[in-house]
Amino acid sequence: MRYVVIGASAAGLNGVRQLRALQPDAEIVLVSKDKDIYSRCILHHYMGGIRTKKELMFVEEDFEDRYRVEWRRGVACTGLDIRRKQVCLSDGGGVSYDKVLLAAGSCTFLPPVEGLREAKGVYGFRNIEDAEAIMEAAAGASHIVVMGGGLTGLDCAAGFLHMGKNRLWWKWRSGFW
Ligand SMILES: Cc1cc2nc3c(=O)[nH]c(=O)nc-3n(C[C@H](O)[C@H](O)[C@H](O)COP(=O)(O)OP(=O)(O)OC[C@H]3O[C@@H](n4cnc5c(N)ncnc54)[C@H](O)[C@@H]3O)c2cc1C
Repeated sequence: MRYVVIGASAAGLNGVRQLRALQPDAEIVLVSKDKDIYSRCILHHYMGGIRTKKELMFVEEDFEDRYRVEWRRGVACTGLDIRRKQVCLSDGGGVSYDKVLLAAGSCTFLPPVEGLREAKGVYGFRNIEDAEAIMEAAAGASHIVVMGGGLTGLDCAAGFLHMGKNRLWWKWRSGFW
C-alpha cells in the first residue's frame, strides 16, 4: 500500500505518525509546499525576534528516518490524476498513490468588507510569508489596525507589541461589523 500525504504541518505530520503506527510496511510519501516546518501558534514570537525560524520547528530532526517516509519538500500538489492514480506536482513530476491523505490546511478568510480586497497594506496572518511581509510593512508604520479579535488577531497584536509597537493605542471595538 502506498500512501501520499499532502501537507506537512500538524495534521499531515500526525497523519504520517499514525499511518506508520498502523501500517509498518506501507510506503509513505509526504508532499509539502513548504520546505521548513513551523508552528503557526508562535508566529508572533518570530515577529518580535523572540524565536528564530529554526525555533518555530516542531518536528523531530530525524522525522524522515524515524517514520520511514519519503519527504518531497518544497513542491506543491497541483492536481490529482484519478485515472492514473497519481498526485501531480508543481515540479512537473508525479507520485503514484493507493490512498491520499489531504492535510493541506486552510487559508485566510477576507470578510466581505467593501474595499478590503483592493486596498494596499492588507495582510492575512497565517503563514510565515505573511508574518515576514507584515514585519516589513510594520517596521515603519505608526498606525496599524488588527481586524479580528480572535486567537490569531490577538496573536498578531502581541507580535506588534513584541516588535516594539508599544506606543500604539489599542482600541477594542466590537459589534460594528
Ligand atoms: C496565527 C495563528 C496562531 C495560532 N495559534 C494556535 C494556538 O495557540 N493553539 C492552537 O491549537 N492552534 C493555533 N492555531 C491554529 C493551528 O495553527 C492550526 O489549527 C493548524 O496549523 C492546522 O494544521 P493543519 O496541518 O491542518 O494545516 P496547516 O498548518 O495550514 O498546514 C497545511 C500545510 O499544507 C501545505 N500545503 C497547502 N497546500 C498544499 C499543496 N497544494 N501542496 C502541498 N502542500 C500544501 C502548507 O504549506 C502547510 O504546510 C493558530 C493559527 C494561526 C494562523
